[in-house]
Amino acid sequence: MSDRAEPRGRRSARLPWYGEGLRFSCLPGCGACCTKHGDCDWVYLEGDDAERIAAHLGLTREEFLERRCEKEDGLDVLRMDGPDCPFLEGSSCAVYAARPRQCRTFPFWRENLRTRSAWEKLHEFCPGIGAGEPHSLEAIRARLDEESAG
Ligand code: SF4
Ligand code: SF4
Repeated sequence: MSDRAEPRGRRSARLPWYGEGLRFSCLPGCGACCTKHGDCDWVYLEGDDAERIAAHLGLTREEFLERRCEKEDGLDVLRMDGPDCPFLEGSSCAVYAARPRQCRTFPFWRENLRTRSAWEKLHEFCPGIGAGEPHSLEAIRARLDEESAG
């Protein structure tokens, strides 16, 4: 690899719009993203989510899927009997240590990072967007990789 500095313009052109990082901190006592809002109606279970949450609750995967989940477009989702996630207790998550990947990786989802305006729109319900802790490009990419992991 050449040790010559890459022209600044070329390097910048390859960076996504959030190349200099983004600010986000989850605010204690909020819980707004655990309630239906906008187009977000479901908590999807992917990869080993169901198995992990089942173990956290002392259930087998099959028991958990039967008692607490349903299918939406062929995918496993938490059964929502109201606007709130069934694991939302007050403003806390009852399965926080085992929460689904969707919840762990929010708000660093591909769809939210597609454009700056998509990111900024999240602020309509999430007060942590654009505030608090800085997240570097590398950290954001790691979250995107986690979101995409099978
Ligand atoms: S809406 Fe944002 S600040 Fe509120 S609980 Fe969710 S991630 Fe945290
Ligand atoms: S599983 Fe927990 S973090 Fe995820 S939506 Fe439900 S209450 Fe919120």
